[in-house]
Amino acid sequence: MNLTERLTQERRARLAAEHLLAKKQAELSDANRKLGRHAMALTRRIGETQAEVDTVRTENERFRSDLSEANEKVEIAERRLWLSIETIRDGFAFFNSNSRMIAANEAYLRVFDGLEEVAPGVSYARILELMAEEGIINPGDQNLTEWHTMMMDRWFSPTPDPITIQFFNGQYVRLFDQRGHGGDVVTLAHDITATVRNEMELNAARRRAEAANRAKSAFLANMSHEIRTPMNGVVGMAELLADTELSEEQRLYAETIRNSGEALLVIINDVLDYSKIEADKLVLHPEPFDLERCIHEVVMLLQPTARDKGVDLIVDYDLFLPTSFVGDPGRIRQILTNLVGNAVKFTSQGHVLIGITGFGPEQEGPFSIHLTVEDTGIGIPPEKVNHVFGEFNQVDDQRSREFEGTGLGLAITKRLIELMDGEIWLDTEVGVGSCFGFRVPLLPVDAPSGRPEGLPKGLRRALIVNRNPETQAILSKQLSFLGLSIIPCACGQDAMDRMNNTVDLIVTDQDLPDMDGLQMLGDLRNAGWTETPAFLLVSEPFMQQEGSASADLAAILQKPVYRADLLARFRDLADNSTPMAPDNSPSPMPVVPTADCGSNKRPMRVLVAEDNKTNQLVFRKMVKTLALDLRFANNGEEAVEAFTPFEPDLIFMDISMPRMDGKTATAEIRKLERSSGRHTPIIALTAHAMSGDKETILAAGLDVYLTKPLRKEQILGQITMHCPEEAAIEAPVQLVAGP
Ligand code: ATP
Ligand code: MG
Repeated sequence: MNLTERLTQERRARLAAEHLLAKKQAELSDANRKLGRHAMALTRRIGETQAEVDTVRTENERFRSDLSEANEKVEIAERRLWLSIETIRDGFAFFNSNSRMIAANEAYLRVFDGLEEVAPGVSYARILELMAEEGIINPGDQNLTEWHTMMMDRWFSPTPDPITIQFFNGQYVRLFDQRGHGGDVVTLAHDITATVRNEMELNAARRRAEAANRAKSAFLANMSHEIRTPMNGVVGMAELLADTELSEEQRLYAETIRNSGEALLVIINDVLDYSKIEADKLVLHPEPFDLERCIHEVVMLLQPTARDKGVDLIVDYDLFLPTSFVGDPGRIRQILTNLVGNAVKFTSQGHVLIGITGFGPEQEGPFSIHLTVEDTGIGIPPEKVNHVFGEFNQVDDQRSREFEGTGLGLAITKRLIELMDGEIWLDTEVGVGSCFGFRVPLLPVDAPSGRPEGLPKGLRRALIVNRNPETQAILSKQLSFLGLSIIPCACGQDAMDRMNNTVDLIVTDQDLPDMDGLQMLGDLRNAGWTETPAFLLVSEPFMQQEGSASADLAAILQKPVYRADLLARFRDLADNSTPMAPDNSPSPMPVVPTADCGSNKRPMRVLVAEDNKTNQLVFRKMVKTLALDLRFANNGEEAVEAFTPFEPDLIFMDISMPRMDGKTATAEIRKLERSSGRHTPIIALTAHAMSGDKETILAAGLDVYLTKPLRKEQILGQITMHCPEEAAIEAPVQLVAGP
């Protein structure tokens, strides 16, 4: 091989080597590139991982801080909760499912007075033992073992009921135990000492109040008895008086006494009924009644008081208003008695005017009755207007002390009016007067009264002499309504001056400012007016006695004038009869059946046990028309003593008597009768008006029950009914009864 060839060969080899090198270099750079790329990727990954690590680290730190924050909060909450639990005055404790204490607050532990054993870990059973051993618990009726067993049984029940335990220091605690999930028990020991004390005090107060209430009922029963007994005398005597020969006027007085007495009895019962109103148990008893008459009766009852004070009582009843209505007269009388009574009580001069008007319905239906009681008294300050309608409320205690009263009247009045679907109001001014008004719906019984008939012929003009302008106006109105023309005069001299031939009637008050009415009439008679009929208005019964003869009166009317009376006097004038003559016309006489009064029979024997002498007298008078063998016993003992020797056919027995009461006496008499086998009828006479009395009286062996005041018909009826065959009561066939 030549050189060239070798050179060529070497060049080739070099070229090949160079080529290879180039190739290898190319490969290398490719590898380098790849490597670079890989390194970059790696770097990027590392970066990412680093970021992730950073994030995780941050989060971790955040979690850690959150956790510690949460822990802190938990700690705070726990501290607060425990602080709260410590603050409450009630005991609080937790127990685990093994009934061991986990924790308890100070109030719970305080009970154990520093006993170290009572601490977390102590068992509930041991706590109970300690309470017993240390004398903390007062087990009441139970012994300590029983108490412990009872408490443990309760503890282990699934839902323990609350229980009250008492400590020896007087404290009362109510235990509430709540079993939670996992058997833990939460205990709350609620201190109820104050509540128990209050309850005990309330119970004691209630017992006292009940006792006081019983005492009040007893007091009311006694009061009713005490008042009814003398009222029996008043009513009975008035009834007897009405049975005697009386002038019409005297009869009016006797009847007024009786009616007023009966009205008073109604009021007594009404006062007893106040408790019923309180309990909303009061019911009205509507019946037809005469409203004007009812008002008049109340006025007559209050007239003496008003007269003594020099206060005029005036009634102005609307002339066009009917007088018969359906209502509860007793309650209306009670309302009126209080309103008019108050007006009279709180008025020292002037007048009390009762005005009655009413508005009728278009068709059928109730009238709206408006009644006002106006006085010229002390008045009521505006701020007390509502106050006076409350119970026991009076305007001012100091001032009211000079006036009698309980302060119940208006409260009852208001309740009664509301019960009648009405309303009450008051207009008043201090020092000027008061006007109490009320409205109630009342159903009329008949059509509105028209113009009354019977004005005597030739009666055209009347001279009315009255110092009181209100009375003057009312009388003028009433007489004009009858068709008379009026000459009003304010005093006697005025009347003397104005008297003339055209005057057909003189109506004069006795009490004139310048002279006595009778004196004026006497003077007129002397002056030649002898024929003119004259009516005299008096405020006091029997005042007419003196000088009335010279005045030659056609009628005497009591003030305030009752329209029915006035009309009756006009009728008398028309009849031309003498109105002053005693009214001897027989009253309607119910026939009391009498026993056969054979002459050979012995008189019926009647024993009356009654301690009150007046009532004995009333009784004697009531039966005076009968020929009885009548004997009185002054008390139960005397009645029992008299029973065997007297052998009565009938006994009237008062219930309340000294020494021995009627019930005991009856029991004694029933014992005496046992040997003979007789049964003497015994009739109870009692003033007891309380419900339930009847039952106890009949249960005591009495046969019949009569309430005082005694009524003549009832007494005579009982005597007649119980007159035995062999006895007689020799009674007249007819007996006069009260109208
Ligand atoms: P009671 O009626 O129970 O016997 P009372 O008359 O004192 O006692 P109410 O009728 O309730 O009781 O009256 C309450 C109070 O209202 C009275 O005490 C009085 O102060 C006042 N009062 C009532 N009527 C009048 C009146 N016409 N004028 C002035 N004050 C009155
Ligand atoms: Mg009163």
